[in-house]
Amino acid sequence: MTKMLNGIEMEAIKAMLRFANLQRIESVAEAERCFENIKDFISSDEAMWRLLKLTVWQIAVCAWLASITESQRERRAVMTEVAPLVKKSVKTALVFKNEELGYECRFQSVHAVCAFAVALILSKRRRLASRLQRCICGRFNLDLHPKGRPKKYCSPKHKALADAMTLNERVRKSQLKHKMGKKS
Ligand SMILES: [Zn+2]
Repeated sequence: MTKMLNGIEMEAIKAMLRFANLQRIESVAEAERCFENIKDFISSDEAMWRLLKLTVWQIAVCAWLASITESQRERRAVMTEVAPLVKKSVKTALVFKNEELGYECRFQSVHAVCAFAVALILSKRRRLASRLQRCICGRFNLDLHPKGRPKKYCSPKHKALADAMTLNERVRKSQLKHKMGKKS
């Protein structure tokens, strides 16, 4: 499946996920580090690297990702939102190099990289959307070198936490049922 992504596509997805998973952006430098491997392809506009702007973008990106993990209908809504953004803020050019026809990208901003990455995840042929999962801690996981089931949890610890919560919920529900049964 990774053959479905070229170098820049792979880096865009990785950068976007790192950015989304910062959860709370503490500094501009921290956000910049997420895009380090793809920085040469982003138009250098100093005004882009502002904490407030980055935070607003990050909230939008997290909302897209959350919707993708939600349902097919939500996914379509994200597609509608992302399509014009990709069209407007990502410029591509065909390149024929090393016996391979490919394309190069130029991103208007960090936001453009994220829109591009989300569009790739939603692109049917690449079959990534159903592999995007959200952990109990809120972080998004997308295994780009998948083996077997999609990775949902960041760590065994987070999985244990999720299991414990499910168990608690089940106990609570059965207690409730028991109580209701007694009343009637
Ligand atoms: Zn987690």
